[in-house]
Amino acid sequence: MNEIDYKDFWIQILKKIEPRVKMAHFVTWFQDTAVLEVKDGMMIVGVPNVYAKGWLENKLNGELITSIKEVDPTVNKVVFEVHPNLGLADDHRGVDIKSLTASDKPRKVRGKQEVRLAEGVSSKCLNPKYTLKSFVVGQDNRLAHAACMAVSASPGSSYNPLFVYGGVGLGKTHLLQATGNDILRNFPDKVVVYATSEKFTNEIIEAIGKRSAKTFKDRYRNVDCLIIDDIQFLANKEMTQVEFFHTFNELYDNGKQIIISSDKAPKELKGLEQRLISRFEMGMIVDVQFPDFETRLAILQAKCREHQVLIAPDVLEFVAYNVRNSIRELEGVLLQAIAQAELEKSTPTIRSVARIVKKLNKYDALAGYDEKGDDRAVARSPKDVLSIVAGYYKIPHDELIGLDRHKGVMRPRQIAMYLIRQELKHSFEEIGNLFSGRNHTTVMHAVDKVVKDLRKDSLVLRDVNSLKQEMGL
Ligand code: ADP
Ligand code: MG
Repeated sequence: MNEIDYKDFWIQILKKIEPRVKMAHFVTWFQDTAVLEVKDGMMIVGVPNVYAKGWLENKLNGELITSIKEVDPTVNKVVFEVHPNLGLADDHRGVDIKSLTASDKPRKVRGKQEVRLAEGVSSKCLNPKYTLKSFVVGQDNRLAHAACMAVSASPGSSYNPLFVYGGVGLGKTHLLQATGNDILRNFPDKVVVYATSEKFTNEIIEAIGKRSAKTFKDRYRNVDCLIIDDIQFLANKEMTQVEFFHTFNELYDNGKQIIISSDKAPKELKGLEQRLISRFEMGMIVDVQFPDFETRLAILQAKCREHQVLIAPDVLEFVAYNVRNSIRELEGVLLQAIAQAELEKSTPTIRSVARIVKKLNKYDALAGYDEKGDDRAVARSPKDVLSIVAGYYKIPHDELIGLDRHKGVMRPRQIAMYLIRQELKHSFEEIGNLFSGRNHTTVMHAVDKVVKDLRKDSLVLRDVNSLKQEMGL
C-alpha cells in the first residue's frame, strides 16, 4: 500500500471507531493520526504526541482493536509511534478528524438540504457542535458575534456580505459554522452551503475536468446562504476567483446571504482581484481578536462544562494566563490536561498543566509557576510533603498538623501521613511527632485508612495520584 491507500484504509477504520467512542475523545485523539505501515499482521499507527499514544494504547483492547479487525482481520498487533510532524500543516499523512466528522455524518434534520444538494457537494455540511450559544463573547469578539446573530436572524438582509477576519484559532470557523447552523434552525427550508476556499477551488477544478462546470454553477448559485471559510487561500487562483466573483454577484443580486472569513482585512489581502476586494467591502466587516484574560477563563470554564469535568479554578487561571496565542491552543491544553488526568486517574494541577503548556509553546517563563521547582522534581522532606498537601487542599499548614478534628482537615491529614510514610519511609513515631506529637498508633490507623480508601474511593485515588505528581513522583 502507498500513503494514499493507507489513508483510505485508516479512514475506513476510523469510521468504525467513531460510533464506539465519545465524540470529544474521537476528535481529540485521532486528530492527525495515520497508518504508517502494515506488515506481517503488525500495524504501525503514527500519532502526533505522547498523550494520544497513551490514550490510544489504553483503548487498544476494546473499541480500537475490534474496529481494526473488522476492516482487516489479519492485523493482530498494533503499535503506536509518536511522530510530532503529523500535527504540522505540511505533513499530509495524518487524517483531519474534524473534516471527517463534519462531512460524513448523515443528519436527519437536514434531510431537505441533503436531497437538494446531494450531488457531490461534500462541503455543504455543517458541524452541529458549533453554535452561537456556545461561543463565549468578550470585548474582543463581541461585534463579530453580534453581526453573526443578526445575520442568522435575517439572512440576506442585514449585513451582506459579512466578512469576518482574524488570526489563526480565534474562532472564525466556529462563528461561520454556527451562523450556518442557526440559519438552518431558524429557517429549515433554506439551503446553506459551507465550503473552505480550498474545497471551493477543488470542486471547480474537478468540475472543469469533468466538463460539468454548469452543474457546479447551478449548485453554488442556487443557495440561500454561501459560507466560504479562509478566503485568503483563493490568492493567485485566478480561475477560481473569476468563478467566485460571478457566484458572488448572482447571490448578492438575489438577496442571498454571503459570509466570508479571512486571516486579514479585505484591504490587506494579497493576490486577490481588486473587484473582489471591493465586493467584500460592501457589507459588514468585523474582526476577532485574541480575547482578554477574563474571556479566556470563561472559555475554559465553558469547555469544562461541555466535557463535564471539574478543574480547580487556580489551574484554569494558570492556563488562561499562560496560553497567549489562540483559543485553539487554549482548548488543546485543556483537552490534553483532561485526558492525561483521566489516564493517570489524577486531577490536573498547575504542575501537570505547566508541563503541557511548556511543550506546546516555547515561552520563556510561565507566570505563577516555579520552574526551578520542576527541576528539583522530587519532594524530599516531610516539610515538602506538608506544604504540597496544604497547598493542594488549600488548608493552612498549622491546621494540617494541628489537633482540630473537623471534617475538612481529616482526610488531607491522613493523606499527608500516608504519603510521608509510603514515599519517604519515615517511622510512625516520627510522623506522629510531626503532627503535634500524635501517638504512633493514630498514625498507623490513618495510613491504614488511606490504604483501604484507595481501593474503593476513586476520589482518594485521584487526590493521591495528583499529590504524588506534585511531589515529582
Ligand atoms: P479559526 O477558524 O479562527 O482558526 P476556530 O473557529 O477553528 O478558529 O477556533 C478554534 C477553536 O477554538 C474551536 O474549537 C472553537 O470552538 C474554539 N473557540 C474559538 N473562539 C471561541 C469562543 N469565543 N468561545 C468558545 N470557543 C471558541
Ligand atoms: Mg478556521
